[in-house]
Amino acid sequence: MEDKIIRGSEVASDIREELKIEIETLAKQNVVPGLVTILVGENPASQSYVAAKNRTARSLGIDSTQVTLSAETSEAVLLELIDKYNKQENIDGILVQLPLPDHMDESKVINAITPEKDVDGFHPVNVGLMMLGEDCYLPCTPHGILELLIRSGVETSGAEVVVVGRSNIVGKPIANLMIQKRRGGNATVTVCHTRTKNLKEHCLKADILIAAVGVARVITADMVKEGAVVIDVGVNRVGETESGKALLAGDVDFDNVLEKASKITPVPGGVGPMTITMLMKNTVQAAKRRV
Ligand code: NAP
Repeated sequence: MEDKIIRGSEVASDIREELKIEIETLAKQNVVPGLVTILVGENPASQSYVAAKNRTARSLGIDSTQVTLSAETSEAVLLELIDKYNKQENIDGILVQLPLPDHMDESKVINAITPEKDVDGFHPVNVGLMMLGEDCYLPCTPHGILELLIRSGVETSGAEVVVVGRSNIVGKPIANLMIQKRRGGNATVTVCHTRTKNLKEHCLKADILIAAVGVARVITADMVKEGAVVIDVGVNRVGETESGKALLAGDVDFDNVLEKASKITPVPGGVGPMTITMLMKNTVQAAKRRV
């Protein structure tokens, strides 16, 4: 059973070692990749995501700055700040942690980041380039999934892929990446959502099943084909430990699906570590523009 598990934390660690070498090479050319993360408000999940991003960046030698703004900050102030970092030479990547408070327009804020520094890969220019299969910053979670599949030796060419979820940050981009004519692509992709009829019927056809739903353990063993590769993107808080630490579950009923899958990602320790690592990869890619 153990060898069925795709350990994202280990794959992520390999990629980080590769990045360290690239960062050392950049340092010899007097370039230190610079990342700024902007957090608005006090959403506990966002706070822990931003802290993890900064910790990882620093551990690799990326110059990482965290800016924390109060939830009452006006949109105009945030846009001014983004403009300042857009112009700042030593900042290669700008990340605004989502979600933003209700009084802010997320699209407007994302669109304000210059596409060259959009290391989250959310700007419409990068989304468009991704769709065209051209060079761009790929969104971190779908890029992480792609790398996990490639590095775990999963054949995607000709595979039936079913993605459950159609969000702009996971479902739509991973579906798009997997139909591209290149390594990690060439799959036949079906995208399911809340209006999909017969979800189970679709899922049962999947050679590769990707769950990005946001509902704990919604993908059960009877929805999974024998031998399928199952990628669980979901991070759902299902309780807390006595010490107050969040207990997490994926979108997949891991214990039972493990029996049927040929490979499966755990939660935590699967897709999550890959997401942060791909952010670092994008930041290093951005810094290379300065050489
Ligand atoms: P989202 O924006 O809420 O989208 C969820 C998608 O799932 C929607 O398209 C929704 O359909 C669909 N859906 C919900 N319930 C469904 C059901 N019962 N049957 C079929 N489809 C259903 O969520 P997201 O941002 O994509 O995130 C999904 C999950 O991944 C969350 O748990 C999130 O925390 C996690 N996540 C993890 C990482 C990571 O790095 N590990 C990164 C990003 C997200 P409709 O469009 O019809 O509403």
